[in-house]
Amino acid sequence: MNIDTTGIEYIVKKVMAEIDCAEEGGKPLKDGELGIFNDMENAIDAAFIAQKSFMRASMAFRSKIIAAMRAEMLKKENMEMICQMAVEETGMGNYEHKLLKHELAATKTPGVEDLVADAFTGDDGLTLIEQSPFGVIGAVSPSTNPSETIICNGIGMLAGGNTVVFAPHPSAKKTSALVVKLLNKAILEAGGPENLIVTTVKPTIDSANTMFASPKITMLCATGGPGVVKSVLQSGKKAIGAGAGNPPALVDETADIEKAGKDIIDGCCFDNNLPCIAEKEVVVVEQVADYLIFNMKKNGAYELKDAQKIKELEELVIPGGRLSRDYVGRSAKVILKGIGIEVDDSVRVVIIETSKDHIFAVEELMMPILAIVRVKDVAEGIDLAVSLEHGNRHTAIMHSTNINNLTEMAKRVQTTIFVKNGPSYAGIGVGGEGYTTFTIAGPTGEGLTSAKTFTRKRRCVLVGGFTIK
Ligand code: NAD
Repeated sequence: MNIDTTGIEYIVKKVMAEIDCAEEGGKPLKDGELGIFNDMENAIDAAFIAQKSFMRASMAFRSKIIAAMRAEMLKKENMEMICQMAVEETGMGNYEHKLLKHELAATKTPGVEDLVADAFTGDDGLTLIEQSPFGVIGAVSPSTNPSETIICNGIGMLAGGNTVVFAPHPSAKKTSALVVKLLNKAILEAGGPENLIVTTVKPTIDSANTMFASPKITMLCATGGPGVVKSVLQSGKKAIGAGAGNPPALVDETADIEKAGKDIIDGCCFDNNLPCIAEKEVVVVEQVADYLIFNMKKNGAYELKDAQKIKELEELVIPGGRLSRDYVGRSAKVILKGIGIEVDDSVRVVIIETSKDHIFAVEELMMPILAIVRVKDVAEGIDLAVSLEHGNRHTAIMHSTNINNLTEMAKRVQTTIFVKNGPSYAGIGVGGEGYTTFTIAGPTGEGLTSAKTFTRKRRCVLVGGFTIK
């Protein structure tokens, strides 16, 4: 992708300043303009009113709106501005990778075509199972994929005939507000109504809780860590929980080791390891471990071996066992600099051989630090990979050419995404078949969410008619 950064910084600062101004309740944004409200209750009311008429809109009209949303998000200047803002505001991630993720969400999130009816016909007539809107959905979005989650949830939820209130992560509030604004602009220009997608200027845990409790919200969808997933599951409403992962990459002795080394580094460093699907630790069969490490180093891995430096790194990124937000989503270069090691941009991941219970293997770090744990054989490897995944049911990766080993791992690990012989991002449609999503619902079982996830199945029964068998 040809990136033109000229002038983007200026525009980003201007938009951020405009949103700052609105946050203080002042101009230029009027309350409710382009879906941005000062108050959560008002945002919910507006989305509630909007849904009443939107549920009657034709599928052609929904499609038109969704096409306009995609087109707006794919405008070069918007993509660049949003992705630059996301990096600047959150202090996390890699601008070029954010462009790819953003483009992926805008192009490969399914629309209304995802809503396929089921039918039963026979002597007693015709029974249709159709997918109806839930109503107003309250969606919590993370700091790690701010624009992507709003695009992806926005398209899927509107395709299902719902309206949506977003409660974005406070540390990505400006980026999230900008995306909501641009989506509303696109909807209005396409002849659509106001307030199909709304949010608040100043999202907080309190405003999210107001949303969870509102009787006007009929479904909640949380994309984030364990805290927020637990909160929505306790709400008493229909809730979709897309929670944390700690994806292991297991490599056995039958794998194509050159390819595995490259794939693991490519997947691990994507957006500085922010994606919940990204490789977070490697489990490798002893027989091929040295050659795998050799191939990882050939593809941009820096191996840290000095015990003192490893200790320093631990204290830097996870002091007292709590993840340092200063290093989440930062590059390998910045992380190594923190312990006094200068490297150039060709270094993409820090690899470290550890024991199986080292904090680097056990914790979801969301930074390009990859623990590598040796095991004697694939059986021990599967046991360990399953335990490091912590029952999140999120993502696992395996490199192997032995179908029995792959099958055994798939059965044991029970993850929502299982990528065989590729980088983790193949699991969300980058170099792997299938649509994309940025809300992977492992805990509640909807899997890779799409428009149909955000609908209710309803049965319509016509007695004694329309069967032509
Ligand atoms: P986070 O859990 O800190 O925040 C997510 C959202 O939840 C934010 O909007 C935050 O304000 C809100 N929130 C947090 N605790 C809350 C509470 N108790 N009540 C109400 N709202 C609350 O997550 P993050 O750091 O932005 O994102 C990273 C985490 O999200 C990682 O664990 C990652 O694996 C996970 N994630 C999962 C998916 C998925 O599809 N399964 C996608 C992206 C991120």
